[in-house]
Amino acid sequence: MVKFEYLKPKSIDEAISLHQSHGQKAKYIAGGTDVMVKIKEGKISPQYLISLRHLQGLGRIIYKDGELRIGAMVTHRMLELSPVIRKEFPILTDSTANIGSVQIRNVATIGGNIINAVPSADGAIPLITLGAEVRIRGPKGERSMALEDIFIGPGQTLLEAGEILLEFIIPKLPPHTGGAYCKHTRRAAMELPILGVAVRISLADDMKTCTEARIGLGVLAPTPMRAQNAESILKGRKLEEKILKRAGEIAAGECKARDSVRGEAWYRRAMVEILVPRLTKVAMERAG
Ligand SMILES: Cc1cc2nc3c(=O)[nH]c(=O)nc-3n(C[C@H](O)[C@H](O)[C@H](O)COP(=O)(O)OP(=O)(O)OC[C@H]3O[C@@H](n4cnc5c(N)ncnc54)[C@H](O)[C@@H]3O)c2cc1C
Repeated sequence: MVKFEYLKPKSIDEAISLHQSHGQKAKYIAGGTDVMVKIKEGKISPQYLISLRHLQGLGRIIYKDGELRIGAMVTHRMLELSPVIRKEFPILTDSTANIGSVQIRNVATIGGNIINAVPSADGAIPLITLGAEVRIRGPKGERSMALEDIFIGPGQTLLEAGEILLEFIIPKLPPHTGGAYCKHTRRAAMELPILGVAVRISLADDMKTCTEARIGLGVLAPTPMRAQNAESILKGRKLEEKILKRAGEIAAGECKARDSVRGEAWYRRAMVEILVPRLTKVAMERAG
């Protein structure tokens, strides 16, 4: 039987100091849906699990003056059911409503999803397209960075030992903005994506010309990525059928799809080509 001590700090500083005391023998745990699986599979064997569950202020969703703040301990289920997310950020409802099962979504957190840093993390792609920043605190103090910069490889982030991800900050978006996410899977539930595509666009007052575009791709590179060449073909143009088709082709060309048990590279690229135009249309409808 695997043995560990479960520690329940009451404050962020106490959690960080416990991590410093126990060093590499310690691991933070949020919902535990990734950590416990890894312990059971023998991939990790921490002697101390430091729970983040009792830390104040990490479980809130705050929407004020157009800025959205999501605490790292917010569960996928909280995001899925939040009226403000459904109304203002349906791209996040698209992603969270299809993670695992209700039981998983009730405990699994958005912070854990990001720090686990698998290329298939459903939470990451829409947040990247929304331009989310992350706030982090650790033994050396507090810092912030763009979420898209945090990933350095499969299962790896820029977080240093003892650092805690506190929250995601989504800045106020321009008017006429809409977004959509599609997790492409073989089954509807309890399935990791073959690929994930998110599109967020902002439109000018004519509701046709694109003023800003962001396309996020999951499972199409070792880390979540943006299709920046495809974004630039949309920006400044009227979003007509042929431009959307071209954006899909460019995104398929710039992703780094590979073969895996869940899908082959050629199929992943073909789906990117289809999903980018399709999701851009949904994003345009939502922008309206
Ligand atoms: C049956 C099943 C189905 C699943 N389906 C999906 C799916 O469809 N899509 C998907 O994306 N994922 C899926 N997952 C993976 C998992 O549920 C998510 O990644 C989840 O969001 C992880 O959150 P958690 O709170 O459980 O993280 P934990 O397991 O508690 O932690 C994960 C990692 O993050 C670290 N960590 C957690 N919070 C913080 C923090 N605030 N600061 C610093 N470090 C932190 C931990 O130390 C650990 O390394 C599934 C898992 C299971 C078991």
